[in-house]
This record gives sequence, C-alpha cells and structure tokens, in this order.
Amino acid sequence: MPAQELTHRNLAVYIHIPFCTKHCAYCDFNTYVEHWQSRIVEETVEAICNDIVQTAQALPESQRNRPLVSVFFGGGTPTFLSGSQLTRILTTLRNTFTFLPDTEISSEANPTSSDSEKFEQMREAGFNRLSIGVQAFDDRLLVALDRFHTAGEAESAMRLARSAGFTNINLDLMFGLPKQNMPLWEASLNRALELETEHLSLYALTLEAGTRFERLYAGGKLELPDEDAELAMYERSIEVLTQAGYEHYEVSNFALRGHQCRHNLVYWHNEEYLGFGAGAVSYLDGRRWKRERLPQHYIQKVRDGEDLTVESETLDFATTLGETLMLGLRLRAGISTQILQERFGIDPLTHFASEIQRLQTRGWLTSESGILRLTHQGLLLANEALCEFLPT
Ligand code: SF4
Repeated sequence: MPAQELTHRNLAVYIHIPFCTKHCAYCDFNTYVEHWQSRIVEETVEAICNDIVQTAQALPESQRNRPLVSVFFGGGTPTFLSGSQLTRILTTLRNTFTFLPDTEISSEANPTSSDSEKFEQMREAGFNRLSIGVQAFDDRLLVALDRFHTAGEAESAMRLARSAGFTNINLDLMFGLPKQNMPLWEASLNRALELETEHLSLYALTLEAGTRFERLYAGGKLELPDEDAELAMYERSIEVLTQAGYEHYEVSNFALRGHQCRHNLVYWHNEEYLGFGAGAVSYLDGRRWKRERLPQHYIQKVRDGEDLTVESETLDFATTLGETLMLGLRLRAGISTQILQERFGIDPLTHFASEIQRLQTRGWLTSESGILRLTHQGLLLANEALCEFLPT
C-alpha cells in the first residue's frame, strides 16, 4: 500500500444543513428539529448561497481559483432539503468556485427523507456519492437509538439511490449499542455486504455530553456492551470486511478499490477546506474558524453582511505538525517521513524521537522503510496513541 501523500494543495468545501425531522438519542451535532416547510429552512438555503458568494468575493483570487477536490453536504440531514434546494446550493458553488471533471460531490442521506425524485434530481445536479445513515439493520436497535427509520426503509433508500444512478454509496453503521451483541452486529455487517455498498463507515457509540443517552447512562438506565465486547465487534468488522474484499484504509473506514472517500482524505491529510452553513468549520492559511451556530443568527448575519466567525484560532507550527501526524496516522497506509520532511522542513524521526520510541515500546507504532504506521494494537487504541503527537 503506498503511503499517503501529505500535500496541502487540495481544497474541499463542506456545507452544513442544520435540520433533522427528529433528534436521535446519542447525537450532539449542530442540528435542530424543524418541519421541512418551515420558513427558516428556505431562509437557511438562501443564506448558505449568499454566504458562499460573499465568502468567495472576500478571498484572494489565488484561493478562489483553487479547484475543489470535493464537496460534502453534511448535517443534520442534507436530504431534509428538497432536491431543488440542494441543487440551488450546488449550482451556487459551481458558479463561484472551480470544479474538476471528477470533483467528488457527496451528500449524507437519511432513509426517511430519501425518495427517487430527490435522488434523481441530485444525480442530475452532479452529486456522485451518497452516504446513507443506516446505523443498524435491526428495528429494535433503531428504536433504542431514537432513529426514525426502519431497517427496511434503509434498504429501500439504498435501492432508490442505485436506481437513480449512484454508483458510489457509503453506509454508516454503529456498534457498541444498547442490547447489541456480536450476532446482531454481524447481521448488520452482512446485510450491508449483501447490498454491495462501495464504502462502510463504522462508528462506536460515544456518550456525548448533553444527549439523552448520556443522561440515561448517568442515571443507570442505559446498559451498554462493555469495552471488551465493543473492541471485539470492531475487530470482527475488520475480519469480515477485509475478507469480503474491502480495504480497511482508515481506523473507521472501509472501501472497495477506488472508492475511498476523497472528502475525508482531505481531513486526514490535514489539507484545507471551507465550510458554509451554521456552525461550519473552515481551515485555510493556518487559521481554523467556526461560523455562527444558531441558524437564526447565521441567517441574520449573512443578510447584514456581518462577520460570521464565532471562534477562530491561528495554528502554530507545532500544532499543525502534531495534528498532521495525528490525523495522518489514522490512515492504515501510514505517513511517509519524507513527505512530512518536505512539508514541514523537519525530520519527524528526530523531532518526535521520544513519542515514537514510547509508542514503539508499547507495540503501537512501527517505523519501517520511511513509513510511520499504527500496528493492529495501536489501531485498537488509536485515540490514546495519537494524542502523543499533540503539543502539551
Ligand atoms: S439524523 Fe443524524 S444529525 Fe440528525 S439527530 Fe440523528 S444522528 Fe443527529
């Protein structure tokens, strides 16, 4: 497997759609329950379009003319919007930025807001990748998560996407769920394989502050599989999916050949991106900033032409270097020390000698033929292992 290319030439765009029809028990994303016909939804679409144009006008030409390697509509639930609203945002982007013939254009999709007309409109507008939030092919688990779709509806969303012409589809699945055991987890994985998805993202349930799950757990009312059971599910996924021909290319992601998610690769390569929409994050020229989170405030500020920034940080050399390693080592191909040297002008083996030594002693990292790479053991403890590279 070739080592990743840690260039920082690529530019991506993220569009945040901050609405859902219902709130899932585990979710802490910046999203609000609305009716699709609420005025605020249309106002948000208009604000995102104006945000794109206003932001581009303020960028130096050299930045504005950089071709977009990927565009990703996330949320919330992007398919909460109508096909024509999604098309309007994408058209505004196309009229404002430079696209490549093969720019990856993805949207997250929820099974309950998926229909053939919407998917066909999206394909026509140029969307070429879908990421469907399935989470589990089991109705009891879906109810426990407060998801508002059934396993059958998730399968039907996949079929509709195929009929509309999508040939690059990701399914999100979760493990470590309440009442989930190994046979249930294997059943979900096998169902995803039967549906011949091109890509799978697998997430362990995490208890985020302020969620219903966190409150239930704190009150002793939520039983979850223990850490060993959760790790066993993760390891089983690696076995099942690699045997089925999927490349395990990132800690949580698996793809058939040629279907790695280019948008997420931009993040893992620590490359640059612009975010539009309430709460969206941008990273450009060594600065990372976040937009106004509340849709009402976001809309008003766009209308008034005000600065949308609510948080901003300029990343120093040590942080950028540490984050690049931390993100890049999530990739199973590892990081080329030579590419790091070219990008940062330092020898990572000398610069991080003690961190690398510590991780190697624990058996979590290898350094061979100019490639730093997590071992299988390091992969299982990736979050803990990778924090080593962040400045204290
Ligand atoms: S659909 Fe997704 S974004 Fe919306 S509440 Fe559920 S997990 Fe959160």
